Amino acid sequence: MRTRRRGGLFGKYVGTFVGFAVFVLAVNGALELAFTYRETTAAVIKLESEKAEAAAARISQQIAEIERQIAWTTRASAGPEQRRADYVLLLQQVPTIDELMQIDGRGKALLRVSRFAVEATGDADYARDPRFVEAIARRLWVGPVGFRNEVDPSFTIAMAHSGQQAGVTVAEIDLRFLRDLVAPFAVGEQGYAYVLDRRGRLLAASDQLRTPRGSELGGLPQVETAAAEMAERPATDRSAVAAFGRDLAGRSVLAAAMPIPRTDWLVLVEQPLAEAFKPFYVLILRIGGLILLCIAVAVLAGVLLARRMVVPIRALAAGAEEIGAGAFDHRITVKTGDEIEALAGSFNRMAEQLDRSYTSLEQTVEERTRDLARSMRALEERGRELSIANEHKSQFFANMSHELRTPLNAVLGYAELLADGLYGELPPKAVEVLERVQANGRHLLGLINDVLDLSKIEAGQLVLAHDTYALRSVIEQVVASTESLARAKGLALTAEIADDLPLGHGDERRLTQVFLNIVGNAIKFTEQGAVVIRAGAVDGTFVVTVQDTGPGIAPEDRARVFEEFHQVDNSTTRQKGGTGLGLAIARRLVALHGGDIRLTSELGAGSTFTVVLPVHAAAPATAGSGQEADAAHAGATP
Ligand code: ADP
Repeated sequence: MRTRRRGGLFGKYVGTFVGFAVFVLAVNGALELAFTYRETTAAVIKLESEKAEAAAARISQQIAEIERQIAWTTRASAGPEQRRADYVLLLQQVPTIDELMQIDGRGKALLRVSRFAVEATGDADYARDPRFVEAIARRLWVGPVGFRNEVDPSFTIAMAHSGQQAGVTVAEIDLRFLRDLVAPFAVGEQGYAYVLDRRGRLLAASDQLRTPRGSELGGLPQVETAAAEMAERPATDRSAVAAFGRDLAGRSVLAAAMPIPRTDWLVLVEQPLAEAFKPFYVLILRIGGLILLCIAVAVLAGVLLARRMVVPIRALAAGAEEIGAGAFDHRITVKTGDEIEALAGSFNRMAEQLDRSYTSLEQTVEERTRDLARSMRALEERGRELSIANEHKSQFFANMSHELRTPLNAVLGYAELLADGLYGELPPKAVEVLERVQANGRHLLGLINDVLDLSKIEAGQLVLAHDTYALRSVIEQVVASTESLARAKGLALTAEIADDLPLGHGDERRLTQVFLNIVGNAIKFTEQGAVVIRAGAVDGTFVVTVQDTGPGIAPEDRARVFEEFHQVDNSTTRQKGGTGLGLAIARRLVALHGGDIRLTSELGAGSTFTVVLPVHAAAPATAGSGQEADAAHAGATP
C-alpha cells in the first residue's frame, strides 16, 4: 500500500517532469531540425548547382576551343600539302584530337591524318554521310558519342571549309580529357561529378564514382527527374536542376544536373545524403542526446522530489495509523516547514483532543459502571426481599385458607343439616335465608380453594400426581358435570373426541379442574348458541379446544384474562360472578404439565380456548406433599 502510494507520487512527478522537458525539447528540436533540414538542403543544392554550372561552362568552353582550333585548318586558300601540314600540326597541338580527315566538295575523302597511323584514304565516298551532309548544311556538325573498346568515348566534329564547294574537315575527338575537366567539381569527400551523353551513358566521372565509362546511368531517378524537368522548362532557362535520387550502390543522394551548352550532354554533381546531411544528422543526435539527458535529469528530479514528499507523508501516515489504533499520546514529528508540517500539526492537535475526550469518556464510563453496579446490587437486594415477601404472602394465604376452610365447611355442614330439617321444621322465610347462607358459603369456599391453589402453586408446593389417564374420560367427566348448567341456559354442549387418542400421563384431577374451568366459563358467558369441545392428538401432543358463541374477548384483554383476579371490566362479567382466578390457575396447571393455553376470540362472535398438552407430562421437578394437594381440593368450584 505504502509502496504503491510512493510509486504513484514518484510516477506523477517523474511523468510531469519528463513530459514537460521532453515536450519543450521535442518542439524546439523539431523546429530546429526542420529549419536545419531546409537550410542544409538549400546549401547543398546551391553548392552542387554552382559546381555543375561551372563544370558545364568549363566543358563547353573546352569544346569551343577545340572547334576554334579545327576552324583554323579550314581556311579556304590552303592547298593539299599545306593542309596535311596543318593537320599534323593540329594533332600535335591539340592532344584530344585523334584523327583528322578532309572530304572534298563532292563527298570524296581526300586526306586522313591519324595520331596512330597516317594512311591514304582511298577515295571513300562520304556524299551521303551525316558528317558531310550536316556540315555542309550548317557549317558545324557535332556527332553522337561512340565508344572505342567499349570504354573510351569519342565523338566527331565536322566543319565545312570556307568557300564554294570547299569540302569538310572531320575531327575525331577523344573524350577522355573530360575526366580531368569534371574531376575538380566533385563535392565533399564522397561526392562526385560526372558527364552523361543524351542516351545516359557515362562519358566521364571524378574518381569517387568508381563506375566504368560507358555504363548506362540514364535510369537513375535523379537523372530521370532532372531530364523531365529540363524538358518542361523553357529553353532559355539554363540553370542547374536539383533532384533527390539514388546512386548505383543504392545510397540516397542529392544531385544537381546541368545541360552542357554546345552538346546534348548533362553534367551532374552529386553527393550521398549521408555526407551532405552530416550536420543535420549530427544535430538529430545532439537533440536526441539532449532529450535523453533531460529525461535522466527529470527522472532524478522526480525521484528526489518524490522522496522529499514521500518521507514526511509516510511519517504522517504511520503517525495517523498509530493514533487511529488508539495511541492518542503519539505525536507526529515532521519538520518540512510546508503544508505537510501543518497537516502533521493538525493531526497532533486532533490526537490531543481525542486523548482528552477519551480520558474523560473513560472516567464517565467508569463512574457509570460503578453506578450501575450499585443499582444492580440494590435491585438484587430488592428482588430478594420481594421474593421473601412473596413467599411469606403465599405461606400466609395457604395457612389462612386452610384455617378459613375448616370453620366454613362446618358452617356449610350445619346449614345443610338445618335445611334438611334435622333440627325441626323451619318457617319458609328461614329456609329462604338458609339457602342464601349456603350459596354465599359455597362461593366463599370456592374463592378460598382458588386462593389456596394459587398460593400453593406460587410457593412451589403444588405437586402433580403423575399417573396414566384417558383424555376421553376426562372430557366426558367435564361434560357430565356441566351438562345441567348448559341445559338450564338452553345451550348445546357437544364433545367431539378423536377415537384413537393415546393414553396420557399426568395429573388427571388437575386436568379435569382445568377443563371444568374453561368449559364452565364458556357456558357461564354464553347466552345462546353452543359450546363445542374438540379433542385430538398430534405429534405426542393433546390439543383440546373449547369453542363458544359468547360475547368474545377484546384483544386488549386476551392476555390479561390469565392474570390473577382479572375479570373483563363489563357489566356482564360482573353479573356472572366468579373470582378472576380460574384461568390463572388453569394456565399454571397446564404449564406444570409442560403445556400451554392459547386464546383466539372475536368480539360478539365467541371465544376459543385451546389447551396444548404433552401426552407425557414432564416429570415433577420437586417432591411435595401430594396428600395436602388432595385434601386442599375437597370442593372444586364448578
Ligand atoms: P372468573 O372466575 O371470573 O370466571 P376466570 O379467570 O375464569 O375468572 O376468567 C377471567 C375472566 O375472563 C372472566 O371474568 C371473563 O371476563 C373472561 N372470560 C373467561 N372465559 C370467557 C369466555 N368463554 N367468554 C367470555 N369471557 C370469558
